[in-house]
This record gives sequence, C-alpha cells and structure tokens, in this order.
Amino acid sequence: MNIILLGPPGAGKGTQAQFLVADHSMVQLSTGDMLRSAVKEGTPVGLKAKAIMDAGELVSDEIVSALIGDALDRLDADTGVIFDGYPRTAPQAASLEELLASRHRSLNHVIELNVDVDALIERITGRFTCAGCGEGYHNIYKMPESEGVCDKCGHTEFKRRPDDNAETVRKRMEEYRGKTAPILPIYEERGIVTRVDGMADMETVRAEIAKILGS
Ligand code: AMP
Repeated sequence: MNIILLGPPGAGKGTQAQFLVADHSMVQLSTGDMLRSAVKEGTPVGLKAKAIMDAGELVSDEIVSALIGDALDRLDADTGVIFDGYPRTAPQAASLEELLASRHRSLNHVIELNVDVDALIERITGRFTCAGCGEGYHNIYKMPESEGVCDKCGHTEFKRRPDDNAETVRKRMEEYRGKTAPILPIYEERGIVTRVDGMADMETVRAEIAKILGS
C-alpha cells in the first residue's frame, strides 16, 4: 500500500502519518523531515535548502525527488509508504510516477486533509516539540502538564521550527495553493482521491483514514 497525504502546512499530515506508522506498519517518507535533518547535519543539500525553507519557499524538484528515490531504495519492496509533504509540484508528481513504476510500486490512495486557513495559522504558530523525545505540544491546545517538563520523557528543553512563524506560514500556504493543490486533478481522474476534514480532532481523522484504507 502506497499513499500520499496532501494538505497545507499544519493540516496534520505529520501526526496522521505517525498514526499510520503505528497502526499499519507503514513507513513515513517526509521530505520536510529529510530536509531538516540535512540542514542540521550541514550536508550540501542542507546548505542549499536552509534559506529556502526559512523563507517558506519550495526546495528544487530535483533535490526532493532524489531524496525520495534514495529513501525508496532503502526499503523492502513490500513495505507500505506514506508520502508526507511530497509531491508538492507537478514535476514532483511526474517524478513520483517514474520512481514508483521503476520499483514496481503503485499509488493506492491520495488523502487530502482539508482545513480552515485562519485556524491553521493558530495551529502552526503555537506548536512546539520536546527537544528530547520529539513529543508534540501546543501553546493553546496541549501544554505539558507540569510547566516546562515533557510529559513523556521529563526533558526540560523544547524547540520550535524556525519556519513556524506567521509570515513564513502565509508563504507556505501560498505555495500550497499555487503549486500543490493543482496536482490533485491528476489523481482525481484516477479516482484515488479522498478528502478528509482535517479540522476534526486527530482521533476522528485517524478513524476516517483507517476507513479509507479499509481497515
Ligand atoms: P514540511 O515539513 O513538509 O512543512 O516542509 C518544510 C519545508 O521544507 C517546506 O516549506 C519547503 O521549504 C521544504 N520542502 C519539504 N518538502 C518539499 C517538497 N516536496 N518540495 C519542495 N520543498 C519541500
């Protein structure tokens, strides 16, 4: 099973991908995560990507498609994949077709998480994670039970993504509307697109997605 999770930044793609990993033993391939690791490690890709990511713009199609190709090569042929944050442009969608076909894989579902833009800005600008275990928190919706201490691992340091500020988020939304949403019709023609209300609570969305996958 290979699926694409589509939706603007903050729609909950990362959270739902994590659920799918836990519930369906699938593997999450997030180009955003791969690029953030490359930036952290200071690799040539990371050095190129950093300023682009900080501005909320899109990294080149060649770079992200190469990352996905390499990641697919490291997987067993029968491991299910969740594409999270990829493809984001028409050329990336075309590359994904080739990457999948050459590995005898095909796409089963494209799930789009629909969300309200104002709510998204609040969701994104409030989110932060534990620097120790990566547990997600939010200024409004989910503060640690004991102030400044991670509920899960007890760590006392937290971090925020540098691109989770209102200005960059607006730019990322614009990129989604202008370049990513237009790839949906390709998949709609094949009848593999399902839209899910991403404003519902995360467990409801999780159940909806499980239904789509037939489990
Ligand atoms: P994300 O974690 O998916 O929100 O991605 C964070 C940032 O990484 C984006 O705003 C882009 O700058 C970059 N990025 C992630 N995935 C892609 C992609 N498929 N194509 C181009 N840029 C990407």
